[in-house]
Amino acid sequence: MSKQTTTETGADAAADGDATEPESALANARRQLERAAAHVDVDSGVIERLKHPTKLQQVSVPLRRDDGSLEVFTGFRAQHDDVRGPYKGGIRFHPHVNAEECIGLSMWMTWKCAVMDLPFGGGKGGVAVDPKTLSEEERERLTRRLAEELRDVVGPKQDVPAPDMGTGPQEMAWFMDAYSMQEGETMPGVVTGKPPVIGGSYGREEAPGRSVAIITREAIDYYDWDIEDTTVAVQGFGSVGANAARRLDEWGAKVVAVSDVDGAIYDENGLDTQDVEGHDERPGMVSGYDAPESLSNEELLELDVDVLIPAAIGNVITQENVDDIQADLIVEGANGPTTFAADTILEERGVPVVPDILANAGGVTVSYFEWLQDINRRKWSLDRVHEELEDEMLKAWNAVRDEVDARDLSWRDAAYVVALTRIGTAKETRGLWP
Ligand code: NAD
Repeated sequence: MSKQTTTETGADAAADGDATEPESALANARRQLERAAAHVDVDSGVIERLKHPTKLQQVSVPLRRDDGSLEVFTGFRAQHDDVRGPYKGGIRFHPHVNAEECIGLSMWMTWKCAVMDLPFGGGKGGVAVDPKTLSEEERERLTRRLAEELRDVVGPKQDVPAPDMGTGPQEMAWFMDAYSMQEGETMPGVVTGKPPVIGGSYGREEAPGRSVAIITREAIDYYDWDIEDTTVAVQGFGSVGANAARRLDEWGAKVVAVSDVDGAIYDENGLDTQDVEGHDERPGMVSGYDAPESLSNEELLELDVDVLIPAAIGNVITQENVDDIQADLIVEGANGPTTFAADTILEERGVPVVPDILANAGGVTVSYFEWLQDINRRKWSLDRVHEELEDEMLKAWNAVRDEVDARDLSWRDAAYVVALTRIGTAKETRGLWP
């Protein structure tokens, strides 16, 4: 894939953003916490602490525009919880960035890191700016100044940002350079999602899609299906969707439909996913592909397939269309593709939904690998990244599956129970200082 979107957080890092979310990220994150708390034997004081971020940094980021004028933007960094290790999560450039969204998404990162058993807590930040209105030079100045404004609260041992909506490897390179210049030494571990030449990890870009494929494969096995007979539809043939579809195709599944923002293509005999070029490889090449049938994105979601992987944006399976969803299993590739109301209805109907915090967590997991490589100053091969990612995904899958089996929970509740148990136990064991 030519483009490198390496987000590890966010309700929706795809272009359309979070503006249409029916429920705020914070309300959603708190509701999930309360649901999980009902199943976990953790002190109520610990749960109360987890409802609030440890810190919220708000900064002014002055930017000299190319025309000489000066504009001041507002930046945030929410640090939710670091009981298990440094805060970890993206930095987004998007006009709708605000404090509450950052807090909610930082909580989401806490659960995601904990379900993967990574030694990180949750963080999230950004600048309220439309990056499309900035020249490359302006983006560089804005990123460097943000790094300076956040310098006291980030660092390889404190808080490790990553790309998110509107930011990518280049912004991480500028951020790392600005931080390193001020610290007087090269510190690649301050951010992840960097280009490999300055300490980024091989395999970071494809990791979220690969993890979606691994988790889908395990779920297919769990339900005793044969992968060769399993049909799959993938909404959003971008970084996550294309990588997931191609891996599943390689492993024998029949990927019958994929889509981009303009529409979907369908072949009942299975598409050649290697031949279909992704949206970011050549825009328009998904919906423009010469396939037996064209569908709308809505029709793709309603196909009678074994597995549906929504991997484009948030809130696509809603109260309005959930009754028309015919898939037997949903694996969330995007962040937050299923609304709370739809999720409840799917649960009542007995349609399993494997949640985003498990399925697409390959991104933050390879970010963890990147951080390890930076700290140890030793690069891993792509094969090693793939092997270690496979191991970590299987460990997380097994932990969640054990909760599903032991307590008859939904996959989502089980994932949150695994995460909260780990965080709660760590908090109880460390105690409250002073
Ligand atoms: P991307 O921009 O690479 O791809 C998004 C795809 O969705 C594109 O094919 C685009 O055409 C399509 N799309 C956009 N709007 C659509 C719409 N309204 N209807 C149907 N299709 C639409 O983005 P990505 O990095 O693959 O991210 C996809 C989702 O996965 C987002 O929710 C993101 O937050 C989440 N995610 C991404 C990563 C990562 O590292 N890339 C990690 C974890 C989660």
